[in-house]
Amino acid sequence: PGLTQSDSLRTLNRVFGYDSFRGDQEAVIEHVVAGGDAVVLMPTGAGKSLCYQIPSLVRPGTGIVISPLIALMQDQVDALRALGVKAGFINSTQDYDEQRLVEAEFVAGELDLLYLAPERLRLDSALDLLSRGKISLFAIDEAHCVAQWGHDFRPDYLALSVLGERWPDVPRIALTATATRATHQEITKNLGMDGARHFEASFDRPNIQYRIVSKDDPKKQLLRFLKDEHPGDAGIVYCLSRNSVEKTAEFLNRNGIPAVPYHAGLDAQTRALHQSRFLREEGLTVVATIAFGMGIDKPDVRFVAHLDLPKSVEGYYQETGRAGRDGLPSTAWMAYGLQDVVQQRKMIQSGEGDLTFQRRAAAHLDAMLGLCETVQCRRAQLLAYFGQRQETPACGNCDSCLTPPESWDGTVAAQKVLST
Ligand code: ADP
Ligand code: MG
Ligand code: ZN
Repeated sequence: PGLTQSDSLRTLNRVFGYDSFRGDQEAVIEHVVAGGDAVVLMPTGAGKSLCYQIPSLVRPGTGIVISPLIALMQDQVDALRALGVKAGFINSTQDYDEQRLVEAEFVAGELDLLYLAPERLRLDSALDLLSRGKISLFAIDEAHCVAQWGHDFRPDYLALSVLGERWPDVPRIALTATATRATHQEITKNLGMDGARHFEASFDRPNIQYRIVSKDDPKKQLLRFLKDEHPGDAGIVYCLSRNSVEKTAEFLNRNGIPAVPYHAGLDAQTRALHQSRFLREEGLTVVATIAFGMGIDKPDVRFVAHLDLPKSVEGYYQETGRAGRDGLPSTAWMAYGLQDVVQQRKMIQSGEGDLTFQRRAAAHLDAMLGLCETVQCRRAQLLAYFGQRQETPACGNCDSCLTPPESWDGTVAAQKVLST
């Protein structure tokens, strides 16, 4: 020891230019390099990508990466190529010739990593292609998309259980930042990964300050918050509807805060432009629906603000988790009012889902309500939701800890509204 460095560490240094592994990375990587299956739960920004990229480089053959983020594949592959990694992708944005070229590279054993969209694997042609090359591992990124009751369910993910059946000797690694027990179990079950080793990092994000204010005039409250605490900072503001996204972006611009809107109603070109401006410019705010954010790797997002109540604690955690990936102080700010709860209750009841779906959605909403109504430490409550405990009962970096709320009658008020 001392003189011999592991292949993984050498790859980390030489290819990626980093000195050391973080958290569970090394344990996960060694396990997969040795041929084991892994289910990896790590918060956003913890560095899940290296957990499959390094084993793909160390093991012989090509690492197949399944990712739902088609819009980001090109960027990811370009970034890897810039580091000298032989990476490619196949998805619907390419024409036939481009696809054939990548396929040929894969079959010839010229790729370290091949990114595929999940819907590909429903095609026999794609499975045939895979059987013509040598595979080092399968990585299933954003694996919570296989959870049917989760907020990002993709039916195509269910077909991925075929990988373990057809290639029983190829290690599989499923990765996600969503950690509820239910999601966890669904990933293991739906992907047929019962024998996998589980790695679970702490979900605490100590540099994020959690604050929930009583909703009154939300746009004005937001403006005050941004002017007082985040002048010139980059951040994300989430709204429920496209209409409020547009109005809020306009309002911020009129009041001296540069902002761009992002929602599924904008054409693809405008969305791509606004996303890349957000990534490249300094101090820009994106006002968005939840259509924005998955897979975005911008380290210096200083605040995430919610003008409307998220539908679940998982959603809230993922969205706020986009703040402060660089580890510097950041704020998760939300304006919350009981009218939001009433509105969402109605939406659930009049929505399309069957009774089971409605019950689930209502349970998600109740948990979110619990987080908003608590007079205890928000962080403790958030971690407890994910089955984790923090060392001290009070974190010192949330509104409850910083300015202990007077015990008010909110809970009773909430129950009244909810029982109608
Ligand atoms: P996740 O998928 O878990 O959200 P990423 O894999 O996108 O996170 O990594 C987040 C950022 O952290 C990236 O910019 C990545 O290069 C960086 N990173 C990951 N591991 C390390 C490490 N061991 N040392 C330094 N930086 C790292
Ligand atoms: Mg990731
Ligand atoms: Zn706290």
